Amino acid sequence: MSEIIVSASDVMRTFMISAGVFRAKRPLHAVNGVTLDIRRGEVLAIVGESGCGKTTLAKLLLGLLPPSGGDIRLDGRPVMTIPRLEMAGLVQPIFQDPYSSLNPRKSVGAIITLPLVVQKDQDPSTWRRRAEEMMALVGLPPRLYNNFPNQLSGGQRQRVAIARALINRPEVVICDEPTSALDVSVQSQILNLLQDLRGELNLTYIIISHNLAVVEHMATRVAVMYLGRIVELAETDQLFKAPKHPYTMALLESVLTPDPSLGIPDTHLGAAYPNPVDPPSGCTFHPRCAQVMAHCSVQAPKRVPVEGGHVECHLFDANLGKEKAIA
Ligand code: SF4
Repeated sequence: MSEIIVSASDVMRTFMISAGVFRAKRPLHAVNGVTLDIRRGEVLAIVGESGCGKTTLAKLLLGLLPPSGGDIRLDGRPVMTIPRLEMAGLVQPIFQDPYSSLNPRKSVGAIITLPLVVQKDQDPSTWRRRAEEMMALVGLPPRLYNNFPNQLSGGQRQRVAIARALINRPEVVICDEPTSALDVSVQSQILNLLQDLRGELNLTYIIISHNLAVVEHMATRVAVMYLGRIVELAETDQLFKAPKHPYTMALLESVLTPDPSLGIPDTHLGAAYPNPVDPPSGCTFHPRCAQVMAHCSVQAPKRVPVEGGHVECHLFDANLGKEKAIA
């Protein structure tokens, strides 16, 4: 069995965006050359600002969107050749909002067993028992089997969503902001539950989040996305202790400190997030970069391998060397 469960190689996804009634459509490269190997059993977090392409990348990895270019493999097989039903048994999503992701007209039991119905599981007589086992695993009492989502708390609804995602024992679970719609008091319970289930069921998680506290708590590695590219990929400890890419540094500086008198630290990201339809030249981060150099606006940085991942920044390109920052 290969150590790599998901492998993405130079993956692209382009959407044609209308610029107005009488204007030609323009390409938006939502994912623009992502190369990434995800190890079996790891928790890979994908972080970045809204619009950076992380949700599109998740959809590509789920096989919900075909890539415009490049190659995505699950366990060595091209994702787009895996039949839809089989794919649903291998990769499952958990969405951020349990309020809208559960059908209000279905009971808890019907929601959790739905994947077995869809997969035409051969033995319906076992469905209830399996659902109740899964409910026990996620901390839901069996008496809730016939209840409806509106009779549950937010935390219980997210537990139902997790049970539904895991009942077919998928290999990979993609968690899209799994706690952002929940009360702070239940967020850590759900995160701890996800951690426990990973160990118990040998799961691989891909977590999409812009909550860096969640990422630090859960992830084994972190991919930082900016305008469709992974600009830094590193082990979690390494990334939080010694971030390399100026964008990662700015993101980490933007985390609120526990001392409210310190306010929001300066992120150095004074310029607004660029329009993805009209990205800046060279390094697309250059208009916002605190360490920008003369050639950054002209030449796109190459991917430089580092321990546990890579970084895309001229500061780490030995061939270019360091110039004096002009910011
Ligand atoms: Fe900043 Fe230049 Fe590195 Fe881009 S390549 S992140 S502009 S230093």
